[in-house]
Amino acid sequence: MGTLYEDMVDYGGEVFGREHLETLRECVQCGKCTGGCPSGRNTALRTRKLMQMALVDLREEIFNAPELWFCSTCFTCYERCPKGVKTTDIIRTLRNLAAKEGHMSVPHRMIGVYVIKTSHAVPIGPAQMELREAVGLESQPPTAQHPQNKEQLEQVQMLFRATNYDAMIDFDWDTMNLRGMDKGGKK
Ligand code: SF4
Ligand code: SF4
Repeated sequence: MGTLYEDMVDYGGEVFGREHLETLRECVQCGKCTGGCPSGRNTALRTRKLMQMALVDLREEIFNAPELWFCSTCFTCYERCPKGVKTTDIIRTLRNLAAKEGHMSVPHRMIGVYVIKTSHAVPIGPAQMELREAVGLESQPPTAQHPQNKEQLEQVQMLFRATNYDAMIDFDWDTMNLRGMDKGGKK
């Protein structure tokens, strides 16, 4: 393991390009990212602070910070940054590294549960089915959530097993939920 910056450039570089991750070093702490962050208006997320924490190698503090998961990846900060810091790619890389070390937030892990169970990050529920029927559509579109496409859903589930994503989110195939979750979805 190198410094957090080195790990970010190595790991995130594979996905976003090393030059994107290296822009972290250009941050001048002007705060323009934080000033425009829609999530930060309502949460503890402070983009400028996150960039600084990454630069000074506060790995554990970042990985354990709930606000790391409050970014909605809207790219506002990315576009506002006067120094061209690829903030959103940096945040996504920090999340990937945190997740690899077992720090993924429960709501993000639940998205994995929904995809395993329905193939949708936001499954089509009874209310949407009713609305669809009200305008003359079939209650469900022909995605892998549709009961007639069970085979496709199984292929989605195979991908989760093959990539070990099920283990990363601690998914229990017996209960089809996160391990240790009760029926109401609470730990
Ligand atoms: S806007 Fe860019 S330079 Fe300014 S604090 Fe944010 S990341 Fe750093
Ligand atoms: S991408 Fe994330 S950190 Fe940047 S402005 Fe949007 S919510 Fe805030």
